[in-house]
Amino acid sequence: MFEHFTPQIYIEDVFALPVGFLKSKGIKALLLDLDNTLTVWHAEKVPQNILSLLRRWEEQGMKLCLLSNNRGKRVEHMAQLLGIAYVKNANKPSKGGYLRACEKLEVLPAQTAMVGDQLLTDVCGANRAGVYPVLVKPIAKREMRWTMYFSRNVEKLIMPRVMQNLKAAEKASALTYTDNSF
Ligand SMILES: [Mg+2]
Repeated sequence: MFEHFTPQIYIEDVFALPVGFLKSKGIKALLLDLDNTLTVWHAEKVPQNILSLLRRWEEQGMKLCLLSNNRGKRVEHMAQLLGIAYVKNANKPSKGGYLRACEKLEVLPAQTAMVGDQLLTDVCGANRAGVYPVLVKPIAKREMRWTMYFSRNVEKLIMPRVMQNLKAAEKASALTYTDNSF
């Protein structure tokens, strides 16, 4: 149980993303959550170190697309600042947004990883779409009320089982989620 909510990798933040390892798994594209993954919730600006990171990932051959449940113009604005493609109103954890993003980047779901901070949306949707799920710790505690009062509490309840699954998978693949050495 809880397989849908189990990421393949759990890392401190986006800077710890093991791109070389993902490439060795055949991953060619990254779908990126916005709020509390790349920037703080509701940010209108992008930190320079995030911009540099995205350019580095591109140099390493990764195609990038923002995948956000936000509906407003902000997603477009942020994607423009980030210099990457976007899919807004993604309706995560539904599969549709993931598949639209894969189409946009001309990759298959199996060649794609999702990087996000929420089990109930980012990770669950990725597993449903056949995309490789990577969980990051949220940048800050400030977020949408629904997330704060509902999603994070559900996460707390299911996290022990999710971590059990993750540890078992890591044991099987000899990978530890704190291992950034690849
Ligand atoms: Mg988020």
